[in-house]
Amino acid sequence: MSKINFKNKNKQLQFRYLSISLTAILSLLLFLIVLFSFGHFQRQLSLSIQENTRKHLLDATEYSNTLIAMLFEEKMEHLETISHFCSVNTNINDQEIIKLLKKENLRSRHEILGVASTSGVLYKGDNNSVQLTISPALQKALKGENVISDIFTYSKDGKDYIFFAVPIWKNGRVNGAACLFYDTQYFTNMLGKSMYDGTGATMIIQKDGKVISGYQGLEEFATFYDMLNQSGFIFTQESYDEFYQNIQNGKSGLFVYEKNGKKRYLTYKPTGINDWITISLVMAYSIDQYQYISAQAIVLMAVSISSFLILTLVVLYIIQKNLKYQKNENESNRLKIVARQSNAFIYEYNIQTGENYYSENFGSIFGNAGPNHYMERIHPKDLLKFDSVSRQIYKQRQFEPFEIRIMGYDNRYQWYRVSGEVILDKKGKPDKIVGSLENIHEQKEEIKQLLKITKQDPLTKVLNKVGWEEKVKKQLNSSTNSEFAFYFIDIDDFKLFNDCYGHDTGDKIILITADTLKKVFGRRAAIGRFGGDEFVVFTPIDCSPDSAITAAEVLLKTIDESSSYHITLSIGIALYPAQGSLYDDLMKYADQALYKAKDLGKNQYQLF
Ligand code: GH3
Ligand code: MG
Repeated sequence: MSKINFKNKNKQLQFRYLSISLTAILSLLLFLIVLFSFGHFQRQLSLSIQENTRKHLLDATEYSNTLIAMLFEEKMEHLETISHFCSVNTNINDQEIIKLLKKENLRSRHEILGVASTSGVLYKGDNNSVQLTISPALQKALKGENVISDIFTYSKDGKDYIFFAVPIWKNGRVNGAACLFYDTQYFTNMLGKSMYDGTGATMIIQKDGKVISGYQGLEEFATFYDMLNQSGFIFTQESYDEFYQNIQNGKSGLFVYEKNGKKRYLTYKPTGINDWITISLVMAYSIDQYQYISAQAIVLMAVSISSFLILTLVVLYIIQKNLKYQKNENESNRLKIVARQSNAFIYEYNIQTGENYYSENFGSIFGNAGPNHYMERIHPKDLLKFDSVSRQIYKQRQFEPFEIRIMGYDNRYQWYRVSGEVILDKKGKPDKIVGSLENIHEQKEEIKQLLKITKQDPLTKVLNKVGWEEKVKKQLNSSTNSEFAFYFIDIDDFKLFNDCYGHDTGDKIILITADTLKKVFGRRAAIGRFGGDEFVVFTPIDCSPDSAITAAEVLLKTIDESSSYHITLSIGIALYPAQGSLYDDLMKYADQALYKAKDLGKNQYQLF
């Protein structure tokens, strides 16, 4: 039994460890998967955002380029109209032209419109004509080309201008040029407005780095390259070289650099005018949702990992509970099996909580009353015993089996043997009492019966010598103020009955005599057979010693009438306490009286 137990326990332990390790491994695996997926997600996110950003910026650059192209186209068309007007109808300094120029120049503060002669005299609508330096750009125009110049600073107002020029043709040769000086500041304002709420800027630079249109502060540097190299920006030489080379070769691209941990994106693309480059730059955070999404992803991951951990813990808890439950189930099942097979009732009393567990078959003792009322069902005479054992348990932590009577559901008391053991908890304190209640009622009855037999005469069922002596002595010891009569009785000439009628008839005579004694002396008397044909009677005297004599007379008469065998008796009588107070003395006196009755002719009584 204990071997099986041990095996089961081992199996349970194995299962427990197995399930716990499996869960742990599974958790770890899932955790790694989550971690890996998260890393992958972040990488993908970063790549896709960078790609998007690049596209976004390039779009912005493209937009700026379109804007500039449209603007410049408009300027050139304007100049072409003027050129056409001059070539068809008038001289370049015609009053109509002067008036038109005046009107136009009054309208705009950031551009100066004029018409230049082949010698470089510029008419702009006011009456002051200006002698222009014949710059390479003007020279080109006078040779018949449409021109947009590089940026130059006008010494008189210190402002930066771009010069537009369209040749004026007359009779197949260039007669002058329609010119426009365009203030680049206006350019800057127009382009800058479109970018990222002020966190970015669009610029136009020349290949050599000179800024055509930029943002405030940029004018401190001679070139855009100087600005990048002298402002404390961080980038790799490699990426800078690529950026620089691409610009020199008229290619577009993305250049990333940073300052104070803040990333900036810069896209560059040829403007489509001269060797100009349009540059869009922006602080990464203003368009980068990477960090925001990343933070959200971290939160999401933390939430999912913690939910997962909680789930794991719950699963482990359930497994543990289940095992515990199963263990308890197994234990109680074992108890039930033992209970069924042994016909015993198993109980488990929890000392700490006062709760009782009883095996199923307990119902056959208590019925529906329930085992919790067991105290009421213990025989009052056994309560003290039960109580003292209960107290002993707490002191000695063990007890000898004891026997008590318990009232069953049929309201009859039956004997039970209570045994059990105290089980200690981890701290060594009494925790439970587990044991059994065994019905020993039948055994008890048998023993009682056996005991009775040892004190009984087998033929007549009256007491034998041992039983009678015990009973009489007990009564003498307990009744101090009472009076008793001792009778010694012997059947007269019994041998003759045996000899004449046989031994069986002899037995019958003995039985008739015993029955007659019961009839005459009644239930209160102790009647015994001392062997052979000798009987003894011990009976209380109710009124006076005379009644003892009367009883003897009645006996002689009754035995005579009891059968056709003509049975007679000789009787010796001794009185307690009048003639003696000791058992042995009184027996001796009654015996002596009997002998006297025999001597005097039998069929009579004699008082000592
Ligand atoms: P007395 O009148 O002097 O008493 O003479 P008695 O013949 O009765 O003599 P006694 O009392 O000595 O005889 C007892 C006889 O009883 C002796 C024995 O053989 C016989 N006896 C003893 N026990 C039994 C018994 O159980 N059954 C029968 N049938 N006879 C028994
Ligand atoms: Mg006799």
